[in-house]
Amino acid sequence: MIIFACFVPHPPLIIPEVGKENLAKLEDTVKTLNHLERELYASKPDMILLISPHTSNYGNFFTINQQPKLRVNFKDFGDLVTKLEFDNELGFGYQIKESCEDNLPIILTADEWLDYGSGVPLFYLAQHLPGIKVVSLGHADLPLTSHLKFGEVIRKQINLSGKRVAIIASGDLSHKLHEDSPAGFSPRAQEFDQSVIKLINEKKIDELLHFDPELVKDAGECGLKPLMILLGIIKELNYEPEKLSYQAPFGIGYLVENFKV
Ligand SMILES: [Zn+2]
Repeated sequence: MIIFACFVPHPPLIIPEVGKENLAKLEDTVKTLNHLERELYASKPDMILLISPHTSNYGNFFTINQQPKLRVNFKDFGDLVTKLEFDNELGFGYQIKESCEDNLPIILTADEWLDYGSGVPLFYLAQHLPGIKVVSLGHADLPLTSHLKFGEVIRKQINLSGKRVAIIASGDLSHKLHEDSPAGFSPRAQEFDQSVIKLINEKKIDELLHFDPELVKDAGECGLKPLMILLGIIKELNYEPEKLSYQAPFGIGYLVENFKV
């Protein structure tokens, strides 16, 4: 049973030991993540299905991490203190792989240390869930339609599993919103972010799927594929999108969206 679903950003700067005084600039994002954390806690999940755009890339293959212990740190960002550890729900990951095999290319990986796209959401959303199991998924270099299809396959496995499953899709919107954005400026970045937010909240999945590829490329985003997998999982449910916050103080679009299921 799907009991919770959200789309969240992954700025390492919201990890207190990393962001320090910069944290204040992302106050709304932190606040809404804390709100989501309470909702997730109250939904009593058995397992979190975590979709990140920054797992190891295997080209055209979707990935499922089968390392028994999944660990998080932010050493790459100068934080030597923060550490998290989760047990992997190996059986469920394997079931997904088995159910994909004929239709979608998928590969099992074994990464002990999770990427920051996984780590930041886990830091905010999963720290008060002792014993929670995590399944870590990665996207493929395939079109958005394949990602929607992958989500549909996952939904069937969730229904078969009998478990209470929370879905967390991690991703940032455009990285080119300001003149001083780390990835450079694109005049169409704002248009991209606003269109994505509008289409999500109007539940126009078809229009998201057929987004102008030039605009997507121009935007320099990392959120659309994880979002498509999430939407593939929940699209048959009577879900209600709720935009909790959107901030871009450093020229990267950070959307926190709850999909009430
Ligand atoms: Zn990213």
